[in-house]
Amino acid sequence: MCPDRTFVADMMLGRLARWLRILGVDVLYLNPVDDRELIKIARRDRRILLTRDTRLVQRRGVGEHLLIRENKPMAQLEAVIRVYPPAPDRILTRCIRCNTLLTATEKPDVRDEVPEYIYHTASGFGRCRQCGRVYWEGSHCRRMMETCRRYLNQA
Ligand SMILES: [Zn+2]
Repeated sequence: MCPDRTFVADMMLGRLARWLRILGVDVLYLNPVDDRELIKIARRDRRILLTRDTRLVQRRGVGEHLLIRENKPMAQLEAVIRVYPPAPDRILTRCIRCNTLLTATEKPDVRDEVPEYIYHTASGFGRCRQCGRVYWEGSHCRRMMETCRRYLNQA
């Protein structure tokens, strides 16, 4: 386990970044961003660079990185998890859109922001303090969750 590993993903890995965030992994994703900036961010924040670019990893100054050769997002996810297995208890703790950790929120706070049915049936809510998005159990589709659990069990 290396739960404290953090990453920065290149522009071609947007979907992979989303999946990793669903698993609770800290992944910075900027678009657009150029190679030099990516390398700078990785070094400055001690983030592992995830990239599909074989030329990029040969550039001077590139630190720890993982070259992603797989084309499909799920295969890419497997490739990352194989090398850097995430902590299993962090699933759905992070905003998929902006990578910020979610904060538990009182039910009345989300009264006007979630569908009526959800408000009455969901047990807990989390909010992203950065972009304001509200999450609840079930806001990620069931199939997505099953996929996550399967990957975490394999890891
Ligand atoms: Zn957010």
